[in-house]
Amino acid sequence: MKTNLEKLNDEQLEAVKHYKGPCLVIAGPGTGKTTVITHRVMYLVKHNRVEAGKILVVTFTKAAAKEMEERFCKLPGYSKEYNGVTFGTFHSIFFRILRRYKNYRLEDLLDEKEKYMIIKSIIKSSGYSFFEDEQVIEAIISEMSYIQNTLMDIDDYKPDSIDRNEFKSIARQYESYKHNNGKYDYDDMLTHCYHMLVNSTQVLKSVREKFGYILIDEFQDINKVQFETMKIMASPLNNIFIVGDDDQSIYRFRGADPGIMFEFSRAYRASAQITLKYNYRSSKAIINSAMSLINNNKKRYQKSFQTTKDMGIYPSVVRVEDFEEEAKIIREKIASRVKQGGNYSEFAVIYRTNLQSRAIIDAFIAGNIPFISYDGLVSVYNHWIFTDILCYFKAALGIEKNNSILRIMNKPNRYIARAVIENALNKDGDLIDNIIKSDTLNDLQIRNLYELKDSLLRIKDMPPGKAVRYIRNFAGYEEYIRDYAYVKSIELKLFKEILEEITSSAEGFTNILDYIEHIRKIAESVRSKYRDNKKSNSVALMTMHKAKGLEFDRVFISGAVDGIVPYYREAAISSADLEDERRLFYVAMTRARNELSIFVPKHRFSQKTSTSRFIEEIDAWLKDYKCNIKSGDIIHHKHFGDGTVREINKTSEGCRIIVDFKGTIKKLSLDVLVKNQIIR
Ligand code: ATP
Ligand code: MG
Repeated sequence: MKTNLEKLNDEQLEAVKHYKGPCLVIAGPGTGKTTVITHRVMYLVKHNRVEAGKILVVTFTKAAAKEMEERFCKLPGYSKEYNGVTFGTFHSIFFRILRRYKNYRLEDLLDEKEKYMIIKSIIKSSGYSFFEDEQVIEAIISEMSYIQNTLMDIDDYKPDSIDRNEFKSIARQYESYKHNNGKYDYDDMLTHCYHMLVNSTQVLKSVREKFGYILIDEFQDINKVQFETMKIMASPLNNIFIVGDDDQSIYRFRGADPGIMFEFSRAYRASAQITLKYNYRSSKAIINSAMSLINNNKKRYQKSFQTTKDMGIYPSVVRVEDFEEEAKIIREKIASRVKQGGNYSEFAVIYRTNLQSRAIIDAFIAGNIPFISYDGLVSVYNHWIFTDILCYFKAALGIEKNNSILRIMNKPNRYIARAVIENALNKDGDLIDNIIKSDTLNDLQIRNLYELKDSLLRIKDMPPGKAVRYIRNFAGYEEYIRDYAYVKSIELKLFKEILEEITSSAEGFTNILDYIEHIRKIAESVRSKYRDNKKSNSVALMTMHKAKGLEFDRVFISGAVDGIVPYYREAAISSADLEDERRLFYVAMTRARNELSIFVPKHRFSQKTSTSRFIEEIDAWLKDYKCNIKSGDIIHHKHFGDGTVREINKTSEGCRIIVDFKGTIKKLSLDVLVKNQIIR
């Protein structure tokens, strides 16, 4: 029976045909690791006659699991007989097992917010002083999570955040809370599943019978509890097939341990090990520049692979004024390409932090560029600070007036008690007037209310940019944010950045009504894309973390400036974190098939930025490459077409090359050429 194997290379075929026992595939980006997984699944069913239902394919994110299943369904020869294959994330699969054997219900799952509130109230009722310190609570939660993900005994753990005994007591109380109320959280999905399999031979036997073949993609991001669970599930036949790339390990902060990948061959001494040697995704220039970056990481397992594609278009570093200009240039590039017959889905915009999507989304909405946000709407627009500002706008314009006023009444604190407001809400007429009329107010409160009325009246006719600045500086909102951050011990910097983003966003409009309409369009666009799951013909927007495993013809990387790329908040970045960030940037770069543009905005929020150090690392290769150009090389120029390099002249203004374009001789600057034109 014919499967679609002709196009696979020898190493890929070897991996696809691997039948029983453990197997490890370590290989670089775009070398066909995921391809090997989907083909192997088909091969197992078709050739080795393995029942489709016995095959389990696991990866890390929902998007990746979905993408893989889609790729699988599109393979030639796909038919209904393959329906039974299980594709999922660790969480989804472990939940399925817990539901089946222990009746776990989705409604008993505590989400992150609920978990936070419960832990906070435990801290408060224990009488610890830090119950209002958000950062400490986050740190405690993250440490508790680390213990679970690494299957550590709490007694062996020394916390960084707080005193050891306090930490233990909080963790124990949280455990009892969950136990007594029949609840569990995301981390529990992993540990509960693990312990269930360890403790119940009956369940373990059944799970082993169900999943006879296990395949894991992106194995470099696995953590201890995930690996241990997979190990017992796969035992004793150990039909466990893993693929990964240590250079793409980007979840260390969540307890992922790329070291586990190397432990694999120790855990399974007889495991087959296969390396894939050819990258099929990206042009040579993209791979070479990405390699020049990742080679700066000291802690890595050296693996080499070759590219199968031509040199292609050289990655360009585009220096722009600010993030607004960056977004506009991206929009124009996309629009002009689509005009020439291209498709929106050729493009992805990848950024390090969610805040960056704000300028892009604004530009896309204004230019009618369809997009799908892989992170949902997690930019500035669903931050509570944004909702506050929007409520000022709505209150000024009388849109959903009472609700809007309610939200901003005590932001900043105007000392108006809830009961007074509720009382006034029951009366007809203007809410603020009704509150003023209540006879329990003192002079200060009354003055505050008149000031609010006055502010709203002024804002009403202002252009939105000016209005945001007014709300921040004259209506007391920024001071309120400063106090809020202080009381809650939250870093003020992020809040300020959000306010700056909101200001920049509003600057682009002449009146508030248009701006509110713009916001409505954004919400609608994000909602409808989600509802219709319209991947086709939309530009993909995503963080670097979400980009893993995906590929696009043309990739824009936003904001390659120090502090964002690499991302750090303290004065300096540790070398381990720097290596993490470099891997993340490497993942982003290697998503591109043909074209890669990296943007370097010179300003952020009116302040000068410094170019990301990663750009220098790529540039170093670029400079080497420029020196290597020699006469006889064929180059491609956007306007003149293919040409042969005849001469290289170094002059005081830089390097110039003389190129013969089929008889027409042109003198070109090497700088311009290398960054913008195709070199083969
Ligand atoms: P990443 O590390 O980024 O997850 P990967 O190793 O999983 O990458 P794939 O996504 O499987 O790589 O493959 C990259 C691209 O190369 C895909 O478009 C795939 O279809 C193509 N490809 C893989 N193998 C071959 C082959 N033998 N011939 C032609 N194209 C191939
Ligand atoms: Mg992959």
